[in-house]
Amino acid sequence: MSSGLVNIAYLIAASLFIFGLKGLSHPRTAVRGNQLGALGMLLAIVITLVDQSIIGYEIIIAGVVIGGAIGAILAVRIQMTAMPELVALFNGFGGLASILVAGAALLEVPYLVGSGSVALNAQFSLSIFASGLIGAVTFWGSLVAFGKLQGKVNDGAVRYPADQLVKILLAIIALVFAYLMVIYPDSATPYWLMVAVASVLGILFVIPIGGADMPVVVALLNSFSGLAAAATGFVLFNTVLIVAGTLVGASGIILTIIMCKAMNRSLTNVLFGTFTVTEGGPSADEVYGGKVKSTSAEEVAMLLEGAKRVCVVPGYGMAVAQAQHAVRELFDLLEGNGTVVEFGVHPVAGRMPGHMNVLLAEADIPYERLKDMDEINPNFKQIDVTIIIGANDVVNPVARTDPDSPIAGMPILDVDYSKTVVVIKRSLSPGFAGIPNPLFAADNALMFFGDGKKAVEDMVKSLKDELG
Ligand code: NDP
Repeated sequence: MSSGLVNIAYLIAASLFIFGLKGLSHPRTAVRGNQLGALGMLLAIVITLVDQSIIGYEIIIAGVVIGGAIGAILAVRIQMTAMPELVALFNGFGGLASILVAGAALLEVPYLVGSGSVALNAQFSLSIFASGLIGAVTFWGSLVAFGKLQGKVNDGAVRYPADQLVKILLAIIALVFAYLMVIYPDSATPYWLMVAVASVLGILFVIPIGGADMPVVVALLNSFSGLAAAATGFVLFNTVLIVAGTLVGASGIILTIIMCKAMNRSLTNVLFGTFTVTEGGPSADEVYGGKVKSTSAEEVAMLLEGAKRVCVVPGYGMAVAQAQHAVRELFDLLEGNGTVVEFGVHPVAGRMPGHMNVLLAEADIPYERLKDMDEINPNFKQIDVTIIIGANDVVNPVARTDPDSPIAGMPILDVDYSKTVVVIKRSLSPGFAGIPNPLFAADNALMFFGDGKKAVEDMVKSLKDELG
């Protein structure tokens, strides 16, 4: 195949990746964005394989069938709440692929040099080094992240003596191997020793981070997997791999920063600090004692019948209860009664970015009713009833008032300014941050204790009775 044609195909694939990423930035265009990205990847892979013509079509087709089948089974079977685990595994496999491809390039050195496709210079050795180093950190780090999310690896923040020093030492040893790789460019031994050191580094990088921070770590490892792929692109002299890897690297780091900002924590704090629950804060008894008012489906239905404007605030509990379809029914009923219903979506509600958007989109809630935090916050004073479904930290007013709280300064949804707040959750248990929420004891708050799905279904039934 002529190199001009190959480059044009790569340019089209790279453009499809960029349009795909642009599409992913909004729920309305996300599905199309995903399809464009997948099309770009298919084009890039087919063109590369046809161009190289190293392996037969049977092997390519077998790879597509086996990989496609595994991907389809995983996509269908995985629960939405387990999506961060799946992404962690995908990142890990990306890292593993980079280690293996770079290792294979070293084995092929005599052939590659003989055919004139590579020169044994420092660029070649350092690209292989970067591919193996970042790939190994990503692979092992992602496996630990997967284990923590599944609860199979201790999901606490496990600190060990001199942990930062040990990691710095390992990084220095890896750099020594990089030097040896430049000196002996055709030897695979320093490469595999470096991969072993980087593997330990990957494990020690993630082990000390608490399980609850894993979504941020997964986003960062996603960025690493992109960088590893870009480095592999330099090993293979493959432009589209460099472009795709760089895009993944950049978008992963942007997502990581957005998540950190939404939690009002720095990346350094997530990676090297410990998310601690303050000892000195008020106890649950002090916050709630005698002040919590519980309510029933019938009472909420009466409130909703007369409400002109209602806001629904979903949180992690809505995902656990899978209440989104019941919420859609409530939405239809209220809108049919002339009530304006909006959804207040906090950027870190749930356990992964976009968690709530995905669930609400699954239930066909119109996108224009999904309001970002900045958009909905100025409106809470005009909202008659806010219904919170399994959200806790993202509506905790302590973030505004207590500078010592673990969520101090985290931007929250100002639900407490609405006329009445109905909170659906099973108990007064805390959320992810582990602290009591004074909203539950506020004068304008009513607690509706129960599973999110059952509670919303009961409300729908009572509202139907109420509306006749
Ligand atoms: P929270 O974790 O603060 O609270 C969730 C609440 O849901 C709990 O208090 C729980 O109360 C309730 N719940 C659980 N199961 C059910 C159920 N079946 N039915 C009804 N309620 C249920 O969730 P938020 O969404 O408010 O906040 C997310 C937190 O996660 C934030 O602190 C954020 O920083 C953190 N985080 C988010 C990330 C992201 O990317 N989205 C990444 C990393 C961290 P009860 O047990 O009483 O029912």
